[in-house]
Amino acid sequence: MCIILQHIMETTVYPREPQVLKELRDATAKDPRAMMATAPDAGQFVALLLKLTGAKKTIELGVFTGYSLLLTALTIPQDGKITAIDTNREFYEIGLPVIQKAGIGHKIEFIESEALPVLDELLKKEANEGSYDFAYVDADKLNYWNYHERLMKLVKVGGIIVYDNTLWGGSVAADPATVGHRGGAVTQSTIQFNKSIAADPRVDISLAPLGDGITVCRRIY
Ligand code: SAH
Ligand code: CA
Repeated sequence: MCIILQHIMETTVYPREPQVLKELRDATAKDPRAMMATAPDAGQFVALLLKLTGAKKTIELGVFTGYSLLLTALTIPQDGKITAIDTNREFYEIGLPVIQKAGIGHKIEFIESEALPVLDELLKKEANEGSYDFAYVDADKLNYWNYHERLMKLVKVGGIIVYDNTLWGGSVAADPATVGHRGGAVTQSTIQFNKSIAADPRVDISLAPLGDGITVCRRIY
């Protein structure tokens, strides 16, 4: 870990991380895929955005063991609701005991499915259009633009969409002459996503270099 990041983590992130989130992180650490979990520094920023916007109704694509899900559930009000979608319920069950212990389980509806068909299903009901305050996108990276097109209808004007991993380990900026993996499908698609979102007049944006890069979008119209 670079020394600046270490400073941020030690002074600002870890001392403020709720105990249950740390527990969930510890429960996840035993899993070989633990690095997939949302980075605590990015998570802290997401929680701040949730509070700043007063988000109540949210949607999450890509749950894994639930770090970002628990973080969201702890932050939104008691009557807030999160629709959480992941193709794999087994991952979610690793974090579920901690989520239940935290007393916020009533805010969560977990759907085991590919995210895209669920979004299309939600869009069949007109009442769902513009009904979400906040979306957190962290599922399969190749579909980010497909998610964006759907979420631009589901999230309200003034609502926020956060895309995780938009720096993809820094590979988006790697020198193609020296780094072979720049040709990787996810790297290429993330570069394209970053360009497309920058050219999208419907959103205000910022790509913050927290965790593995998070792109924050606000729907303008
Ligand atoms: N936000 C999580 C990390 C998500 S990792 C956290 O904070 O820990 C990415 C997740 O996306 C994995 O759990 C994977 O099962 C899920 N996923 C992959 N493809 C998907 C798809 N097409 N639809 C929904 N979820 C998907
Ligand atoms: Ca992620």
